[in-house]
Amino acid sequence: MAQKTTRTPMVAGNWKMNLDHVEAIHLIQALALRLRSTESSQIDVVVHPPFTDLRSVEGIIGADSLPIRLGAQHCSDLESGAFTGEVSVGMLSRLSVELVLVGHSERRQFFGMTDELVASTASAVLGGGLTAIICVGESAEQRADGETTTVLTHQVEMALAGVASGAEDRVLFAYEPIWAIGTGVAATEVDAQMACAHIRSVIAHERTEAIASTMRILYGGSAKPDNAGDLVGQPDVDGLLVGGASLDAESFAAMIEAVSACYGSPAGK
Ligand code: PEP
Repeated sequence: MAQKTTRTPMVAGNWKMNLDHVEAIHLIQALALRLRSTESSQIDVVVHPPFTDLRSVEGIIGADSLPIRLGAQHCSDLESGAFTGEVSVGMLSRLSVELVLVGHSERRQFFGMTDELVASTASAVLGGGLTAIICVGESAEQRADGETTTVLTHQVEMALAGVASGAEDRVLFAYEPIWAIGTGVAATEVDAQMACAHIRSVIAHERTEAIASTMRILYGGSAKPDNAGDLVGQPDVDGLLVGGASLDAESFAAMIEAVSACYGSPAGK
């Protein structure tokens, strides 16, 4: 199994349905200013604004050559056509979007996204040359019933059905226990490590040890500046997917710094 240090850490901010395009410009500018004093060059920093903000954020990132990558929160698994309200991978790609969250629990819970749709969306994202961050995680009930690993195994196996052989290097998984998202109660670093290690073992079983050992696995769910270092200090946790705390430049930058510190300074060992 490859060392954690061979995997570039990632800190990704999921803005969800927050910030209009003017507010988005303010946040990305504040973040850029704050990151100037941060050793973040060896960390993949990503923001996932709402669709309506992508053009504005793309403009700022491009104009100032900011070390921030652009992500989307969702997309259709279809290319084009009469699908009201949907956005295609091609449209995102034209806006310099590089990464797409696939199967976030809020899409699964509130918009009926099935495991099959997660797989076909991952397939569309990868087919369009973008990177997929596939979200998996158990509910509070499933956790209480001792079903965490069973749920993770199923979700990872189903999602991998949408990942063509050879495209694995553009896939990340994010372990996001539903009970931790937006609740202020993060998984302990021990629980996060166990879940991420399990996800890696499923990838190894479904693909190869080599693929599993190079694939990045993030943790998400009430990650904050004060727990970021402990979470990413775990051997199988390669970064963070951050919701609420990514809406504030100071706290998001502090998390990037905490992750950077885990990898030595400058970031990346
Ligand atoms: C998320 O929704 O991906 C998330 C991790 O949210 P929060 O950090 O607010 O728990």
